[in-house]
Amino acid sequence: MPQIAIVGSGPAGYYAAEAALKQWGEEAQVDVFDRLPVPYGLIRSGVAPDHQSIKAVSRRYEATALTDNVRFVGNVSVGADVSIAELMALYDAVILATGAPHDRTLDIEGAGLGNVLGSAAFVGWYNGHPEFAALAPDVGGKHAVVIGMGNVALDVARILAKCEAEFQGSDIVAHALETLRGKGIERITILGRRGPHQIMMTPKELGELGRLACAAPEVEAGDLPEIGEDALLEPGLRKSVTLLREFAARGANADKPITIAFDFFASPKRLLGEDGRVTGIEVERTAVEAGRAVGTGETYTLPAGLVVSCIGYRSSPIAGVPFEEREGRFANEGGFIMPGLYCIGWARRGPSGTIGTNRPDGFGVIERIAAEVRPERARQGRAGFDALAAERGLDVVTFRDWRKIEATEIAAARDGSPREKMVDIASMIAAAHGS
Ligand code: NAP
Repeated sequence: MPQIAIVGSGPAGYYAAEAALKQWGEEAQVDVFDRLPVPYGLIRSGVAPDHQSIKAVSRRYEATALTDNVRFVGNVSVGADVSIAELMALYDAVILATGAPHDRTLDIEGAGLGNVLGSAAFVGWYNGHPEFAALAPDVGGKHAVVIGMGNVALDVARILAKCEAEFQGSDIVAHALETLRGKGIERITILGRRGPHQIMMTPKELGELGRLACAAPEVEAGDLPEIGEDALLEPGLRKSVTLLREFAARGANADKPITIAFDFFASPKRLLGEDGRVTGIEVERTAVEAGRAVGTGETYTLPAGLVVSCIGYRSSPIAGVPFEEREGRFANEGGFIMPGLYCIGWARRGPSGTIGTNRPDGFGVIERIAAEVRPERARQGRAGFDALAAERGLDVVTFRDWRKIEATEIAAARDGSPREKMVDIASMIAAAHGS
C-alpha cells in the first residue's frame, strides 16, 4: 500500500490527493500536512474574499479530504516540527505542495518605509491569514499606488476601491472591513513597467474594475497601441486590451469618488518618505523594446500614502531540499526533486497559472510516482508519523477538528457573509478542541 505525504493543503495538494485515490483506490494512504490548523492554502488566504465562486472549489477538496484514505494533518510545520528527511523515511513518496507564500522583494531605495507592503502581507491581512492579521495598513491617505499589472494587483486595487456595501456576501475579515470603512483613498494608481500589450490581467478580473459602485478606471488613450496590433495578441490578452480601450473611451472619471488610474510604461525607481513612512514614489518612464522595459531617463513623482507591491511570489525553502534562488522555487525536473521527493504547483513552477492549472500538475506527479516508486513494506507511513507526533507532543489538527473550526466561523458570520474567519492560531486550536 503506497504511503504518500503531501506537504501543503492548497489546490495543488488536494488535486494530488485526489489523483492518488484515482490511481490506487483503497490501497493508498495519503497524509496532507499543513502548518496552519486550517486547510485549503491559497483558496482560503489568497483568493479574494469577494470571489466566493472561486473559493467554492474547496468543496471538491473536501470530498477528497473526507475519504477514509486521506487524512488532514494540520498545525504541523514540515521543516520545524518534523524534517523532510524524517518524512522521507516514513513515506514512500513526499510531495511538496507548499505554494509560494512570500513576496518577491521590491528591490528599490525606500522599500523598507512604513506602509510599503507586499501583496502576500496585504492579501493575507484582508483574508485573515494569522501571520498578517496584525498588519494594520494605513488607508487614511488620498493616494495609493499598486505596483504590477497582474491579477493580484487587480485584487488589491479592487479591495481598496470597493465601498462597504460591495463586500456583502464576501468573507473579508472584520478587521479589514473596519479599517477600510475609514479609508481616505481617492486615487489608486496601478503602475506597469511595460505597456497595455504586456499586462498579465485576465479579462474577467479586469472587467470587474469597470463595474464598481464607487470607483472608475482611467486609461490614457494615448498609451494604447494602434488597434490593428491587437490582432497579434492571444485571445485572452486581446479581450483584456479591448477592455482597456473601453475604459479609455469612457474618458476621465467624473462621477465616482475613487479613480483607478492605469499608469503604463512606468517603472518604480525610489520610494520617498517622511518620518519613516512612505509619502511618494519616483517613477521612470520606460519604452518597451523587444518586449523589455527600457528606462528613458525621464522621471516623475506620484504622491503615495500606501504602496502595495504585487510583483509576484516566492516559495519558502525547506532545510535539505535544493532550491533555485533566482526563480524562488524548488530545484526540480518535471516535479522530481530526488528519489522519493517531488514538488507540484507553485512550489514546482513558480507563481503562475490559475487554480485549475494545478490539477494536471497533481495528476502528473502521481503518475510519475506510480511509475517510479515501489512501495516498501518497511515504511511506517501514517502509524510512524503518529508515533513521532506523540513523542514530540505535536498538537495535530485533524479534518474533523477543522470542521469544528469551520462551524464556529460559520456561526460567527455577519449577515450575508459565509463565515467570519478566525485570524489567530490559538483561537483556531481552541475551537478545534471544542473549548
Ligand atoms: P503576475 O501575473 O506574474 O504579475 C506580476 C506583475 O508584476 C507583472 O505585471 C510584472 O511586470 C510586474 N513586476 C514584476 N517585477 C516587477 C518590478 N520589479 N517592478 C515593476 N513591476 C514588476 O503575478 P501576480 O499578479 O502575483 O499573480 C500570480 C498568479 O496568480 C498569476 O498566474 C495570476 O493570474 C494568478 N491570480 C489569479 C487570480 C484570478 O484568477 N482571479 C487572482 C489573483 C492571482 P512584467 O510583466 O513587466 O514582469
